[in-house]
Amino acid sequence: MDRQQEFVLRTVEERDIRFIRLWFTDVLGVLKSVAVAPAELESAFSEGIGFDGSAIEGLTRVFEADMVAKPDPTTFQVLPWRGERHGTGRMFCDILTPDGEPSLADSRNVLKRTLAKASDRGFTFYTHPEVEFYLFNQLTKTDSKLEPVDQGGYFDHLARGSTHDFRRAAITMLESMGISVEFSHHEAGPGQNEIDLRYADALTTADNLMTFRTVVKEVALEQGVFASFMPKPLADQPGSGMHTHVSLFEDDRNAFHEPGAQFELSKTARQFIAGLMMHAGEITAVTNQYVNSYKRLWGGQEAPSYVSWGHNNRSALVRVPMYKPGKGNSARIEYRALDSAANPYLAFAVLLAAGLKGIEEGYDLLDHTEDDVWELTAAERRALGIAPLPRDLDEAIQLMERSELVAETLGEHVFDYFLRNKREEWEAYSAQVTPFEIKRFLQL
Ligand code: GLU
Ligand code: MG
Ligand code: MG
Repeated sequence: MDRQQEFVLRTVEERDIRFIRLWFTDVLGVLKSVAVAPAELESAFSEGIGFDGSAIEGLTRVFEADMVAKPDPTTFQVLPWRGERHGTGRMFCDILTPDGEPSLADSRNVLKRTLAKASDRGFTFYTHPEVEFYLFNQLTKTDSKLEPVDQGGYFDHLARGSTHDFRRAAITMLESMGISVEFSHHEAGPGQNEIDLRYADALTTADNLMTFRTVVKEVALEQGVFASFMPKPLADQPGSGMHTHVSLFEDDRNAFHEPGAQFELSKTARQFIAGLMMHAGEITAVTNQYVNSYKRLWGGQEAPSYVSWGHNNRSALVRVPMYKPGKGNSARIEYRALDSAANPYLAFAVLLAAGLKGIEEGYDLLDHTEDDVWELTAAERRALGIAPLPRDLDEAIQLMERSELVAETLGEHVFDYFLRNKREEWEAYSAQVTPFEIKRFLQL
């Protein structure tokens, strides 16, 4: 047993923890959990806990239903909402096959493999997600109308606003679980909030996002409201994006920073951006995985619709934020397509893979655009080489199907499973006769 594992066992004993939840995610990024008793921990660390993976989205094929969850002791935390007495702890798990090999169906492993590739080239990948979400009054019936908890807007400070209390409670809980929060504020939509996690290596931020979603939902329930990470819950209001700031470090030096260069961006950073732009279309099914995601991307309201990059340009897909002179290590770029319902493990993996490809192949970066790309005509955009992102999930799936980069990054199992799942979603969606159609066409 190593020191981390011993630390977990000691903490469980000292803090009277009665349940340890083993957490992992399915291929769509939905959190799964199995609780074990403290007495099981030692064998969980040595052999893992077996479970039937066949009922979990994308985890196994039917003929290899047995899977093993092996907890990562460095991720141990006590769940604050379960109380102090007879508490509950949790750890993230790696999923293994019965022979102890990493499962090719495990999203966490997809990210780990991609991070290992970066690390072979001497890079550590950091991410800093800005998570937007809505708070609604509890729904009584599933068909009742969505009511945001307030009518606030961007950065509004509402007197006695319930979302202050909400953010305060959520952030306190996150901090107590070792997750640092950098900013939080009311977002532009009514009842919409944003909480930005401090940057960390991508595996940690992906794990943190899984915890974050759970904490936000728990705190919302505690306060009698309901939190949604749906990309576009209200047609005429902004969607919930998960803009992600990324950077590569070589040891303790930010490889994106070069003093004196344009926007102080190094060649590595420019190639990384070029990689993101070149592969943006084919990775969009992963970064924006639901039919609803495309209502956000094409619904205006500061969500990107076109592949361009710029400095402080909010219509751009890739934005180079301003940073303080002399703070080279904070150099980073912001990818704005991601939405709050993405599987963070897979989404970070494809972002990194696209950026690394740009570095490997030495892609050239087109000129940046400071125009509002939504205001340009289609011809102007064409002349500037600015392509649209996929219009809908169907187009995104078709681009992904042809992508070697995504196939290689996700591995055959996740790639096939994901595409099958998304095609099914698209077919089910397309088969609907919507209220829009009834309203518009019934009188024909
Ligand atoms: N909610 C917007 C989006 O869907 C982003 C607003 C912002 O710039 O923070 O991406
Ligand atoms: Mg925002
Ligand atoms: Mg942003």
